[in-house]
Amino acid sequence: MSTSLLYHTQCIRDYQYESTEYKDGHVIFNIRRKFFNCSKCNCPQVSVTISRERLIKGEKIGRKLFFLKVPVHRIYCSQCKSTTIENVSFISSPKARITRSLERTIVELRSEMCISAIAEFFGLDWKTVKDCEKRHLEKKFRYIPLKNVEVIGIDELYVKTQGREKYITIVRDLESGAVLYVGDGKGADSLQAFNLKLKHSEAKITTVAMDMSKAYVSWGKNSLPEALIVFDHFHVIKLMNEKLDKVRRRVAGEIDEEQRKLLKNQRYLFLRNVENLEPDAKQLLDNLRNVFKELGDVSMMKEGLRSIYQISRNCSQAEAAFKNWCAIARQTQIKELEAMSKTIENNLQGIIAFWKTNKLSNAGMEGFNNKVRWLIRQAYGFQDKDYFILKIFNLPNTKTEAVS
Ligand SMILES: [Zn+2]
Repeated sequence: MSTSLLYHTQCIRDYQYESTEYKDGHVIFNIRRKFFNCSKCNCPQVSVTISRERLIKGEKIGRKLFFLKVPVHRIYCSQCKSTTIENVSFISSPKARITRSLERTIVELRSEMCISAIAEFFGLDWKTVKDCEKRHLEKKFRYIPLKNVEVIGIDELYVKTQGREKYITIVRDLESGAVLYVGDGKGADSLQAFNLKLKHSEAKITTVAMDMSKAYVSWGKNSLPEALIVFDHFHVIKLMNEKLDKVRRRVAGEIDEEQRKLLKNQRYLFLRNVENLEPDAKQLLDNLRNVFKELGDVSMMKEGLRSIYQISRNCSQAEAAFKNWCAIARQTQIKELEAMSKTIENNLQGIIAFWKTNKLSNAGMEGFNNKVRWLIRQAYGFQDKDYFILKIFNLPNTKTEAVS
């Protein structure tokens, strides 16, 4: 009876149930392997002696923690005269202290529960749960096929974890949403390992979306000469928001204490999309735009830039609209806007190439960046860089609200 229970609840086969102990509120099954054979020649003519005893944690039974006490045998083979140590078949590595079945349960629960909640529920330490998930993710993302990838997006992200700051570069398949590569640093150097992967794959990349930094552009031209380089909506508006933020900081530095109070804590009021603002926030924005004329102009110009994406139907309409925008930007003589118009003019072909592709969703890119930021905010475990990178690979499958 209990031997079949072992199989049906703990996925353990080839072991015989022997007895049960109840100790410190835990349930312990004493079990023993049913058959032995030589691991070298597979011969069943072996003699065994107990080498040591192991206690391995299994799935809980009701609310009780459950353990398996199992003798590990030394196996002597009379055929090939070798001595080997028995392999415990229901653990994933010789040193594992939990069953494979419990590992699977932990991995399943991870999409709904945080590490510490799982650790507490199973009476495990935090690191055991984390390592268990990490092993699973390593296996899952060991090989990432590039063969059918056509549209990729390259993004650099500024990461600050455990007091250390750095950039990482992320390459994604913009059609499936999958993360294809995570590199250290930014620019072409960070993509070297990805180049190798590309070379060995049969990928036919048709489109690369990226920001307007020269380093990525020259990487794209060298590594994917056939592909269309697109400076997508998301990256253009992101750069514009950076300019707007720069102006806000500059203006705040130029005004007196009394006026500065008006601008305090209003960073996101300026950065958010105006159609997402509540009526009173919209009113406040209008007031601040009037009080701080220069900042107001730049804020309006950002809306103007965004509207190009809403209104233009094709490349030529977009091209005309961007040229018009640049002319107005120059007339303002605000240096940040002049710089933005210069960048747009220098990269105009890549910017309007966005209209040649209907596959790039702005929401998808922004959403993914928000997910990475969410991941960084979960401060756990990121002294372990490999784990952090694996978590980035797993982000497309991760629910970001419920679980930390
Ligand atoms: Zn043998």
